[in-house]
Amino acid sequence: MLEIQNIFKTYDNKPLLRGISFSVSQGETICLLGASGSGKSTLLRMIAGLEFPESGQFLFNQIDLAQTPPHIRDFGLVFQDYGLFPHLNIFDNVAFGLKMRNTSAEKINIRVTEMLELVNLQGLEKRKVTDLSGGEQQRVALARALAPQPRLLMFDEPLGALDKSLKDDLLNQIRFILHKTKIPAIYVTHDQDEAFAIADRILLLHDGEIIRDGAPDEVWKNPNSAWAARMLGMGNVIEGVVKRRMNASREGGRMNVATQVGVFEVSCKHKHKNNEKVSLLLKQSGEVGDEIKLKVADVLFKRDQFEVKTRGVALSGEAVSKGGLVIHLKDAPRVGQMIRVKVQVECLT
Ligand code: ADP
Ligand code: MG
Repeated sequence: MLEIQNIFKTYDNKPLLRGISFSVSQGETICLLGASGSGKSTLLRMIAGLEFPESGQFLFNQIDLAQTPPHIRDFGLVFQDYGLFPHLNIFDNVAFGLKMRNTSAEKINIRVTEMLELVNLQGLEKRKVTDLSGGEQQRVALARALAPQPRLLMFDEPLGALDKSLKDDLLNQIRFILHKTKIPAIYVTHDQDEAFAIADRILLLHDGEIIRDGAPDEVWKNPNSAWAARMLGMGNVIEGVVKRRMNASREGGRMNVATQVGVFEVSCKHKHKNNEKVSLLLKQSGEVGDEIKLKVADVLFKRDQFEVKTRGVALSGEAVSKGGLVIHLKDAPRVGQMIRVKVQVECLT
């Protein structure tokens, strides 16, 4: 359906997007997850035809979009700040795209009524959009984007301006509508909870490249890189040095990795040499795993547990000043106290 091929974009001599490629199929919701400033909105603007890449192509059903102006692309957009026309009422906002296409008044009436029902705003046609709450305004924006039956929907941090309970409501509503209408969608956000909740496929954008592309559960199970694990807040990512490889086979094997919190025996499918630097993911575990000893530096209450930042790391009598792992405990420890936790260790490189 939509194919994005090798997109490069530079601003002020700084590369922002460096060879972005992915495709979106019928009925699929793609979620592009990236930090603020990573180029997500720029990519959406280029897909919409409002901006142009230095190189690369956008194809829709095998047709290059380069010659297709934005209003002919039939793509719907929903922004963080709603982008409604403040001087128009709800009806006229939702009808806008249909009027632009010279749709008959009768058809417009039917379609607007249908769309307002879909977003639970039936009967409010005459209301001024400026009288609505943020969540309601965003539902009008969604109805407006859906009304002309777009070939693709794009969402740019649509929940960014809403508070937590409204976010969950609207996210569920968007999910429901995307499943029902089967319109392919690209949903852009920096919020991983949102991304994992709505995506059929997650794309992680980091440093101008897509560093991971997969179903949410696959990405979570196998982040495949230190950056992906960090972006997803999966645990503590630390650097280590390979000290001794064991039963070395061509496909990798087990190895000892020395880190600031101890030496771990890790298996890895890649082949690492002795003294090679690797990144390890330390996931806090209950009973099984390697035990590490940490000194508490700071304690923060988070929902039903305490987030503990650690500092001084003591290893077999040897004091190491670096550290800074974050762990979670049911009971608050004292600052300065030594604690033991079990971790499961994976190699990320
Ligand atoms: P995101 O949506 O991921 O937060 P953006 O695509 O909005 O990121 O912007 C990424 C970077 O590109 C920003 O740091 C910004 O400085 C730069 N940028 C965006 N648009 C322009 C522009 N028109 N001119 C120059 N720099 C821009
Ligand atoms: Mg943005």
